[in-house]
Amino acid sequence: MSELSRTRISPKSVDELISLLASRQVFLFLDRDGTLVPITDNPKDALLPSATVGLLNELSVRISKRISIVSARGLATLAMDLNPADFILAGNYGLEISFPSGQTFLHPAAQEARAVLLDIRSDLEKIAAHDPRLLMDDHQYSFCLHYHRVPPAEQASVHLIIKELERKYRSLQFKTLPTSYEIGPSIEWSKAHALEKIIEHCSPATSDVLYLAFGDSPADEPMFKWVNDRGGMSFKVGEENSSHALGSFGSPSAVISFLQQILPLQQVSGDQDATKQTARNLQP
Ligand SMILES: [Mg+2]
Repeated sequence: MSELSRTRISPKSVDELISLLASRQVFLFLDRDGTLVPITDNPKDALLPSATVGLLNELSVRISKRISIVSARGLATLAMDLNPADFILAGNYGLEISFPSGQTFLHPAAQEARAVLLDIRSDLEKIAAHDPRLLMDDHQYSFCLHYHRVPPAEQASVHLIIKELERKYRSLQFKTLPTSYEIGPSIEWSKAHALEKIIEHCSPATSDVLYLAFGDSPADEPMFKWVNDRGGMSFKVGEENSSHALGSFGSPSAVISFLQQILPLQQVSGDQDATKQTARNLQP
């Protein structure tokens, strides 16, 4: 059974999706961690497999670089995964974006917060060095302090440390996530804003474009809603049920398998017969 026929989609049917994929230009928005690669104990270990990079490169060619990674990670990290000349890379939820044209976007408030971000980075590095169970992700314009390796009975001390930092850095935004704190510029911003910024720059012919979004966490919900509101398809990865997403996949490997199957549906111009044949093969 193909990944397409296993995909849970509502309200569209798999047949409708196949037909849309074969007839419309796809614009792809992909979260990274938990969507393209499984979440790991240490985020540094969540490397993009070379086969996945190869697949994304092929897709980029097929869909004329209309493919964006929209991630909490910093742009510099995303640029180590994929060639910025072939992808739209949106780091820090899109506060910083690079386009294949070489143009870049950096939210002015992120730029303005740079000095204070450097100060708190220094504090966070000291805190993480003091307790090796803590992990600090440096995304340049935001930071994430993970405490999932600290036993629950000892986590109160982490919360106290963060409270102190909040008092010291009142101009920054502290977000409480299930087992981490995310700290960055105080900006009303989500992945939906990132998509808006990307489309503003790329300005595709909207009637002809099918937006597809894939993500695994609450941070992806605004992206799902943005895509749904424009007649696109959104897919939640993982087990959690409550989501704006219209479809779901059980794991990153199921996403990769799906992308492998939609690849032939997006033909480079002049190969319509092959597209139709692939669509027939994928019918459940
Ligand atoms: Mg994710």
